[in-house]
Amino acid sequence: MKTIQIFFTVILVAAATHSHAQEKNQDMKNTEKVIKTEKQWQQELSTEQYRILRQCGTEPPFTGKYYKTKDNGTYHCAACGAVLFSSDTKYDSGSGWPSFYAAIDKDAITEEVDTSYGMRRIEIKCAKCGSHLGHIFPDGPQPTGLRYCVNSASLEFEKSQTEKQP
Ligand code: FE
Repeated sequence: MKTIQIFFTVILVAAATHSHAQEKNQDMKNTEKVIKTEKQWQQELSTEQYRILRQCGTEPPFTGKYYKTKDNGTYHCAACGAVLFSSDTKYDSGSGWPSFYAAIDKDAITEEVDTSYGMRRIEIKCAKCGSHLGHIFPDGPQPTGLRYCVNSASLEFEKSQTEKQP
């Protein structure tokens, strides 16, 4: 009888440990990607942000809140908060949208071919949550020659606490 009790205890402990390990794996995956239903995004974002971030919309040029911003700091994804761009790579492209010649990290942004509106463009998305940011063009300044053309509505700017040395 005692042997049977021990046997079942071992089985229960093993099962509990296994399910704990599964939970832990799940947590690790969640820190990598932000996955929400469209309904959740709709509830969390403003109407304009939802249209742009989740439905690949575009704000009219020269209307967004960041196309003229020159302050030092970092630009985050307005949907999930991931760090996407540094003010160090921001420049005035004259397009009316915030423009950067590089992402803060090559893994922060994913690229996809976009053939909408009869054009072939490369769409850029937040790698963490998949939200639409804008497009990337090969007419930017050196050292990359790239122009990350981003909607202000897709960004949240965090001003740097320390001013850059002249
Ligand atoms: Fe994001």
